[in-house]
Amino acid sequence: MSGKILVTGGAGYIGSHTCILLIEAGYEVIVFDNFSNSSIESIKRVEKIVGSSIVVIEGDIRNRDDLRGVFENHKIDAVIHFAGLKAVGESVEQPLRYYDNNISGTVALCEVMSEYSCKSIVFSSSATVYGDPHTTPIKEDFSVSATNPYGRSKLFIEEILRDLYVSDNSWKVVLLRYFNPVGAYKSGDIGEDPKDIPNNLMPFIAQTAVGKREFLNVFGDDYNTHDGTGVRDYIHVMDLADGHVKAINKIKSFNDVMTINLGAGKGYSVLDVLKAYEMASGKEIPYKIAPRRDGDIASCYADPSYAREILGWEAKRDINQMCIDSWRWQSKNPDGYKS
Ligand code: NAD
Ligand code: UDP
Repeated sequence: MSGKILVTGGAGYIGSHTCILLIEAGYEVIVFDNFSNSSIESIKRVEKIVGSSIVVIEGDIRNRDDLRGVFENHKIDAVIHFAGLKAVGESVEQPLRYYDNNISGTVALCEVMSEYSCKSIVFSSSATVYGDPHTTPIKEDFSVSATNPYGRSKLFIEEILRDLYVSDNSWKVVLLRYFNPVGAYKSGDIGEDPKDIPNNLMPFIAQTAVGKREFLNVFGDDYNTHDGTGVRDYIHVMDLADGHVKAINKIKSFNDVMTINLGAGKGYSVLDVLKAYEMASGKEIPYKIAPRRDGDIASCYADPSYAREILGWEAKRDINQMCIDSWRWQSKNPDGYKS
């Protein structure tokens, strides 16, 4: 495969892993990031892994001139749009910041893409758009809803991109709804590096295993699940990255907006993940049962059959591999990219 792919948010967790597979597949990658939640170090490490240098442009997707600079200098074939803010709690406290960054940023990006006749975009959506599903596994045609500004920003952007396609059918739009990305590249040199106390389960467990946190709070043990704790569909970040490469490979052949779940299709409880992490790390991970977290649902996992049918994609790495790779990154880099 060949072509130039603009990766917004390419220095972030999922973006940096995706850059590796895009380059290995033969694509040229341009990373565009304002480093609001990442550092250039992730890209330096990706360059070491792939053995070649990557064009990195520091800029903000809300700044049309920053974006025009990229399109002036590079003939971009498609955009993978990861750039966005993603902390649910923060989005409740700072809704305008989230709407501005995520929605206004996407509008600016699409305007500039249009100016330069680049009309292929793969967008990072989320399983959060399914709200509290009436049943599991979740299919793409389930009803959508959101309970917080982060989730609403994903829903609005999906709608904006659909409207764009209706206005001009030459747009190619792929909406990838991720379930719970975890794990790291196999060498342990890049991984998830939360700036503050992690909100998500796997990075919190990782930091507890490495001794940075005393214990894990298990949010609720009275859900209607096999052990009472919340069930999610954890997907290895390299499998997720592979889904993006497959979407880019096929994007030009799509004649409709494609909405696709990227999940492993299996549900694991908080205690299942904890046990798998103890096995992977050889550490005992202390935990306490705590009250349910506001807004959490009991169970959420994908029906990934549409991704298999449309992209020829399926998740290959199991929960043990996810924990092994997460632990390799965490133990090699106890303080993330600062290590
Ligand atoms: P991340 O924070 O590690 O990466 C996002 C990147 O975007 C960061 O490098 C950040 O600096 C950059 N960025 C943010 N705002 C920007 C702006 N205005 N201009 C330029 N760059 C900007 O997050 P991630 O986990 O890699 O997530 C990537 C995308 O996937 C996000 O859109 C996120 O909402 C979505 N997503 C993530 C998850 C998850 O659990 N990680 C789940 C579903 C969807
Ligand atoms: N969770 C937990 N303790 C934590 C973080 C998360 O028990 O410190 C639980 C949470 O209640 C949910 C699961 O782990 O059942 C996954 O949470 P995460 O925030 O990673 O993903 P999301 O809830 O957004 O799917």
